[in-house]
Amino acid sequence: MTGEPVRSLRASIIAVGSELLTSTRIDTNSLTITETLDALGIEVRDKMVVGDRRADLAAQFRSALERSDLVIVTGGLGPTDDDLTREAVSDALGLPMDEDPSILDTIRRRFTSRGLRMPEVNRRQAQVPRGATVLANPNGSAPGLWIEHRTKAIALLPGPPREMRPMLQQLVSDQLSRRAGDVRLRRRVLKIAGRTESRVEELTQPTYSRWLSQTQPIETTILATPGQIELHLSTRGADVEAAERALDQAVGELEAILGTDLFSTDGRSLEEVVGDLLKRRVWRIAVAESCTGGLATSRLTDVPGSSAYVERSIVAYSNDAKTALLGVAEELIRERGAVSEPVAAAMAAGISKRASTEVGLAITGIAGPGGGTPEKPVGTVCIAVDGPVAVVRTFRFLGGREMVKSFAAFTAIDMVRRTLLDAPTDVDWIKKG
Ligand code: ATP
Ligand code: MG
Repeated sequence: MTGEPVRSLRASIIAVGSELLTSTRIDTNSLTITETLDALGIEVRDKMVVGDRRADLAAQFRSALERSDLVIVTGGLGPTDDDLTREAVSDALGLPMDEDPSILDTIRRRFTSRGLRMPEVNRRQAQVPRGATVLANPNGSAPGLWIEHRTKAIALLPGPPREMRPMLQQLVSDQLSRRAGDVRLRRRVLKIAGRTESRVEELTQPTYSRWLSQTQPIETTILATPGQIELHLSTRGADVEAAERALDQAVGELEAILGTDLFSTDGRSLEEVVGDLLKRRVWRIAVAESCTGGLATSRLTDVPGSSAYVERSIVAYSNDAKTALLGVAEELIRERGAVSEPVAAAMAAGISKRASTEVGLAITGIAGPGGGTPEKPVGTVCIAVDGPVAVVRTFRFLGGREMVKSFAAFTAIDMVRRTLLDAPTDVDWIKKG
C-alpha cells in the first residue's frame, strides 16, 4: 500500500485552572499530552487555558468539541468548589450526573487507610456524567473520566502532572491507540547554522512547498534560536515505510540546497557534531574566551564524554589576562584593540600552544550595552580558530548582552566545525564593511 493521504484524528487540549492564568504558573500538561498524541499520529488542532469558571469552561469545551474528534481536559477534578470540570462538561453535553458508588468507596478507603475520615467535600469527586468510564488514579483522589459521546471522545484528567501522566499512559493503551487507528506521525529535525531564518526560508520554501501536495504530503515548519535555524518535517500515514522514504527523499533535497550549513539531520546538537568530528580525528580543543565568559566551553562540555576532547578553557576577560595567560603581546592589544582579528588570532594560537592541542578557539567581542564605538559597535565579535588552518572572522550580532553572548558562543563552535570540514566560513553574521 502506498501512502494515501489519511485524515488523522484531531484533538483539542483544555488546561483548566485560574492559577494557570497567572504569571507564576505555566501549563506544562498540554506539552506532555501533545507529545503523547504526536506519537499516535493524532493532530493537536488547538489548546486553551481556561480559568475556574463553569460557564467559560462549558463554552470553550463546546467549541472544542465542534472542531475536534478528541477533547482532553486537564485539571479541575479536585473536591473543592473551584474544581468545576465535571460539572461544566456535563452541562455542555447535557448529561445528568450520577454518584458512582465504587469511586466513593475508593476515595473513602484512601482516607481510612491513612486513619482519616473522608471530608464530605470529596463526595463531589464521585459525581460522574452518566455513561462515563472511570480512569483509576493511583496517585491521588481525583479519578479521571473517559466519555464517548456520539462520534466524539472526551478525556478528563487531573491537573497535578504526577497524577495526569500515568493516567494518560493508561489511556493510550486502553482507548487512544484503538481510536487513533494505524495512522502514525513521522518527523525529522534539520539544524542549520550560519544563516538567518529568512535566508533559510528563501532557499528552501520553493522546494518544501511542493511536498504538501505529493502522495505522501510533508509539512514543514521553521524555528529560530540564536544562531540556529531548525526545519521540522512531519508526515502522517499508515504506511510507516512510505513515510520514512518520503522523509529521506526530502532530507536529501534539503542537503543538496543547504550544503554544509546543514549540520544535523539526526537530532545531534552542534556541540555533539563538533565533538564527533574531533573524536574521529582523536584531536583535542582548548578555548580562550573573553566576552562569552565561558559560555562556549559550557556548551562544549554539555556533551557527555566531552573530556575526551576538551583539554582546557581560559576566560581571559581583561587585557592583562590575555597577555599573562595567553601570551598576547601588549602592543598588539594597544595598537589594534582587544576586540580585533589579530588579537583573536593571537588568543587562539596562544591557548593551543600552551595546551598543546590540535585546535584552539578564541572569542573576543563587545557584548554591550556599553563599550561600543562607531567603528566597533556593540555586537562586534572576533572569533579565531587555530587548527589545520588558521581562520579569523569578525561578526556583528544583534540583540542585547545575553543574545550577543549566546550568538557568539554558538557561532564560535560552528566556526570550529566549518574549519574541521574545510567548509566556507562566510556566514550571514559576518560584519560587512
Ligand atoms: P486536585 O485534586 O489536586 O485539586 P485537580 O484535578 O483539581 O486536582 P488542579 O486543582 O487543577 O487539579 O491542579 C492542582 C495542581 O496541579 C495545580 O496547582 C498545579 O500545580 C498543577 N497543575 C494543574 N494543571 C496543570 C497543568 N496544565 N500543567 C502543569 N501543572 C498543572
Ligand atoms: Mg484543584
